[in-house]
Amino acid sequence: MKAEIFSVGTEILLGEILDTNAKYIASELANMGIDVFYKTSIGDNEKRLLDAIDIAYKRADIIISTGGLGPTDDDLTKETFAKYFNKKLVTHKESLENLKSYFVDEDMPLSNLKQADLPENAIVLVNENGTASGCIIEEKNKIAVILPGPPKECIPMFNKQVKPILEKYTDKVLVSKNLNLCGIGESNASEIIRDLMLSSKNPTIAPYAGNNEMRFRITASGKTKEEAQNILKPTVDKLYSIFNEYIYGEDDDTLQEVVVNKLIENNITISTAESCTGGLLASSIVNVASASKVFLNGVISYSNESKVYELNVCKEDLEKYGAVSEQVAIQMAEGIRKKSNTTIGISTTGIAGPTGGTDKKPVGLVYIAISIEGRDTFCKKLMLKGDRQKIRDKTVHICFSNLLKLI
Ligand code: ATP
Repeated sequence: MKAEIFSVGTEILLGEILDTNAKYIASELANMGIDVFYKTSIGDNEKRLLDAIDIAYKRADIIISTGGLGPTDDDLTKETFAKYFNKKLVTHKESLENLKSYFVDEDMPLSNLKQADLPENAIVLVNENGTASGCIIEEKNKIAVILPGPPKECIPMFNKQVKPILEKYTDKVLVSKNLNLCGIGESNASEIIRDLMLSSKNPTIAPYAGNNEMRFRITASGKTKEEAQNILKPTVDKLYSIFNEYIYGEDDDTLQEVVVNKLIENNITISTAESCTGGLLASSIVNVASASKVFLNGVISYSNESKVYELNVCKEDLEKYGAVSEQVAIQMAEGIRKKSNTTIGISTTGIAGPTGGTDKKPVGLVYIAISIEGRDTFCKKLMLKGDRQKIRDKTVHICFSNLLKLI
């Protein structure tokens, strides 16, 4: 079963909006075992849409189209598919009622009426989040799924109403698992399992580079979900045994969540003293629900005076080694831990640029330190590349990946 995705609308074609519908639908179809070989963007033009339908049905069984179901004259997706399949448009009662229910406080413009006209004998997809009904036309082994453009209308309609219908057309089930890794780059990780990746056909293993981290997506296909899961498991286990020290979570797990949840589970309190990250680290901790159970205090300590006053950093060391130094990072972490009476104190100090770098201390030089009660303070020197934001983001990420190793 092959599908082609149509994104209809001049805005899409001109690059004024991002085609997030096609992105979403393509990945859902992949999970369902429906192949997508082509995606097409078409402006609001009947002739070109008819041509595109013609071409698509030479290479696919299903067209899934989004956009162009609005009330205006240039919204012509449904009309064009109806023309292609030689079908009349007839008023669909439930769609008309749904449409009217959206106009409680104003008169409905007559132009909206056409949103309740649907191709005869089509399966109608009433819109729970808007005025335009979608529909599915099935004719001579060709299927057209016609959905509205706004993602908040299109995605729920696809998930709730279209997926159960499409599932009947596919005899394979795909099951995927993502293993999320930190502390190792995509190319190094891929190199380690190069042979395994090349030889694995079912399941397949695909590496993805993310923001400061990477993941492997393992995908198995089977006749049933259970069969696919059984095919998947040995490879997942194998990757766990190879990358155990780097895998921090699966699928939607984020590093921040995993670290903060581990702190919560083990009742480990934490405080932060930030210079170059300016609160980004504290904010990332607080982003995780229930962080208040463990995050007790955060100080943004930007000036030298503040480092002395707030964190008890030795003034002479600041003058001797500079604010961006191992000595100061360590004292900041120890200072905030003692001041806040937490199990862990963590600090960042560095030069995020674009100005402020010198030959000895260039932009991108950052120190992070982690002070844990009863243990030697851990300190790491980083030489980071990128712009100001990237350096700050990467520093926060490295704080989390080192915390994970230490707790
Ligand atoms: P409406 O009933 O709102 O007119 P429609 O079905 O006619 O909806 P369009 O007019 O084509 O859809 O698009 C409406 C809006 O939906 C666009 O301005 C855009 O914000 C969003 N949209 C349309 N297509 C896509 C897409 N492929 N990906 C993401 N957003 C989209």
